[in-house]
Amino acid sequence: MPLDFKDKVVIVTGAGSGLGKVYALDFAARGAKVVVNDLGGSLKGDGASSKNADIVVAEIKAAGGQAVANYDNVLDGANIVKTAVEAFGTVHVIINNAGILRDSAFKNMPEKDFKLVLDVHLNGAYKVTKAAWPYFRDQKYGRIVNTASPAGLYGNFGQANYATAKLALVGFAETLAKEGAKYNIRANVIAPLAKSRMTEDLLPPDVLEKILPEKVSPLVQYLAHADNQTSGAIFEVAGGFFGQVKWQRSSGQIFRGDEETFTPEAILNQFDSIMDFGEKPFNVKTSYPTQVSDYLSILEES
Ligand code: NAD
Repeated sequence: MPLDFKDKVVIVTGAGSGLGKVYALDFAARGAKVVVNDLGGSLKGDGASSKNADIVVAEIKAAGGQAVANYDNVLDGANIVKTAVEAFGTVHVIINNAGILRDSAFKNMPEKDFKLVLDVHLNGAYKVTKAAWPYFRDQKYGRIVNTASPAGLYGNFGQANYATAKLALVGFAETLAKEGAKYNIRANVIAPLAKSRMTEDLLPPDVLEKILPEKVSPLVQYLAHADNQTSGAIFEVAGGFFGQVKWQRSSGQIFRGDEETFTPEAILNQFDSIMDFGEKPFNVKTSYPTQVSDYLSILEES
């Protein structure tokens, strides 16, 4: 059965270029009513233009689809949701995708670059999601896809601002997944790699041709679909690879005994064991925690 988005209203932020543009075109081709949001600024977030969003909307309409443009900054998320409600009556799906880069080594990173990158990626996603949340709860339906990055999961030289924002989007989605569960709201995270203006100066042309945004979009559409019941998960996606990333806890080391056991020297002596992911008899098992109570359960196990 084809996965269609008939009668679904989808907001894609940053849909004027790169990944967001492909998502918007693909959602519309499957019947969604799409809000094509894009501020239209530079990669560093300077300036603004309605041009790119208009081009995407025109392309969708020319193909027989339904779309409306919105040129607001994601920090004005309430206006983006308002556009969806005024044009199509509600919102069912949010793809938090808008983003900028202001890379520099942490030593040289001005505070304004740290804050601006957090603002666009994290606070922008917050603003859009916050405005949509009451609709999701009332209609008992919502799908959210946050856009993280391998840089956020693992850290990356020159991207302290970006990596911080991107990992924050993971915690945000993991919490929304829990709070939204009983309202049929599913929130997931992707960490993509794709050809766009963000990567075209970093990767060689032959690699870029292998990682087209079209190879990311199918997962985003699946996660946004009613059939998807997975929530709170992180996926890496690039060039035809789709995989889930989980938190893994080592089997660790349980300290028992009197207070003298609880010293930095005792930690030093057992540090290799604390960081050991192999299974050890009579110890906590290596595990894949997904909630705070998983942490407490260690204490019961020990
Ligand atoms: P892109 O620059 O082509 O797309 C980002 C879009 O967001 C642009 O059209 C831009 O105008 C828009 N935008 C920027 N600030 C905005 C704001 N304040 N309000 C509204 N729109 C705004 O880059 P892309 O590679 O398609 O990036 C899409 C998302 O994927 C970003 O969140 C990015 O961090 C993430 N990502 C991309 C890659 C990659 O390899 N391309 C890797 C990891 C994560």
